[in-house]
Amino acid sequence: MIALSLAEIAAIVGGQPHDIPDPAVRVTGSVVYDSRAVETGSLFAAFAGERVDGHDYARRAVEAGAVAVLATRPVGVPAIVVDDVVRALGALARTVVERLGATAVALTGSAGKTSTKDLIAQLLQRSAPTVWPEGNLNNEIGLPVTALRAVEDTRYLVLEMGARYIGDIRYLTGLVPPRIGLVLNVGTAHIGEFGGREQIAQAKGELVESLPSAAEGGVAVLNADDPLVRAMVTRTKARTVLFGESDEADVRAENVRLTETGQPAFRLRTPSGCSDVTLRLYGEHHVSNALAAAAVAHELGMSVDEIAVALSEAGTLSRWRMEVTERSDGVTIVNDAYNANPESMRAALRALVAMGGASRATGGRTWAVLGPMAELGDESLAEHDAVGRLAVRLNVSKLVAVGGREASWLQLGAYNEGSWGEESVHVSDAQAAVDLLRSELRPGDVVLVKASRSVGLERVAEALIENA
Ligand code: ATP
Ligand code: MG
Repeated sequence: MIALSLAEIAAIVGGQPHDIPDPAVRVTGSVVYDSRAVETGSLFAAFAGERVDGHDYARRAVEAGAVAVLATRPVGVPAIVVDDVVRALGALARTVVERLGATAVALTGSAGKTSTKDLIAQLLQRSAPTVWPEGNLNNEIGLPVTALRAVEDTRYLVLEMGARYIGDIRYLTGLVPPRIGLVLNVGTAHIGEFGGREQIAQAKGELVESLPSAAEGGVAVLNADDPLVRAMVTRTKARTVLFGESDEADVRAENVRLTETGQPAFRLRTPSGCSDVTLRLYGEHHVSNALAAAAVAHELGMSVDEIAVALSEAGTLSRWRMEVTERSDGVTIVNDAYNANPESMRAALRALVAMGGASRATGGRTWAVLGPMAELGDESLAEHDAVGRLAVRLNVSKLVAVGGREASWLQLGAYNEGSWGEESVHVSDAQAAVDLLRSELRPGDVVLVKASRSVGLERVAEALIENA
């Protein structure tokens, strides 16, 4: 964070200083809410969560080097007391970002936010100092905490914005107003809470509604291949830039294919030229994410050649997203257990088959270890059935469906598509899947592990990697 005195911070957040001997003392470190992450000069934000209350850790934070605590009551150590710590953080973030004059790039969408945020960060940091959240800090706490990591020379802030309800994104854009807003896609994530795709589009579109006008430099970067996102051009005063595979897109991918090792390759076309890209990421859904990142970088003045090189060198920064590990015995584990939806299941299966292509001739097999996709509402049965069927059509060697009812739909889909007998099995839990795979895997096999977050299927991938 830029150095601010406790007096300045109290004024910005409208808080009352308590037990502060010297209000001129400055916060020189970052804002943290985990007392174990406190460093000298930090400001410790105390939240009252369901299981732990940050106020109980205030003393420990100060002993570890925090200058003061942002809290809702006096805690016996230097504190700025406010009514609402989340709002106070937001106010602080807003002021700090305004003072810095950094350009904020915000992105939202149903799937791919964190992956695309990581790509954008890897592109932009080649051109100027950039701050982005680690992992998945995309809510009313994670977003200001990230923004407050900006320092004097920070030029770009890349911010992920998640939404569960109408109004969430409007609130986040109020904390740190973006100049560039990117909407990736409108899928089915959280469809239960929202009630339907139209409502999801309504919520995501709040991002482009918040942007400054074209004359003020606002840019909305929209997915030309997703009709509900494409339609958002009418909801913004900003200039719009379209990305996608469609001919309409300003930033396009042409000749998209998977390499022998399963990585997507394509020709990147921008308004200022073309260049070839081969991603290091697996799964063709990353083409869309890469185009989105390219469109943002192009807007911020990077050349197409710089963008193509940076994209071709970019890796995953966040865990459990198509994370590939080669075991010493020649078995490959692909851990994509972070999350799943129908689109990404399809993409991951196609990547699996491409990755297994080379070893197939010598007896290597492809294993799809799949668990439930959550939050699909009425579409759940049909979507699980379709994924099971696709596994057969793509000629995946073995399907291991893990979990309850949804897993049985996966298996049934596979069975009905190809009268698969032994090729598809249904096991009740992660441990059963590990036991099965440990006894079955052999050199040359490639194993994809994927399900929705709540299933925790990364345990399968990790167990297979640890005890080869
Ligand atoms: P969250 O809502 O949990 O923050 P997110 O939008 O940040 O998710 P990622 O973490 O990047 O998304 O990816 C989540 C899952 O979505 C991954 O399993 C990945 O396979 C899949 N995914 C990534 N990009 C896309 C895309 N463009 N289209 C469809 N699925 C995608
Ligand atoms: Mg995310």
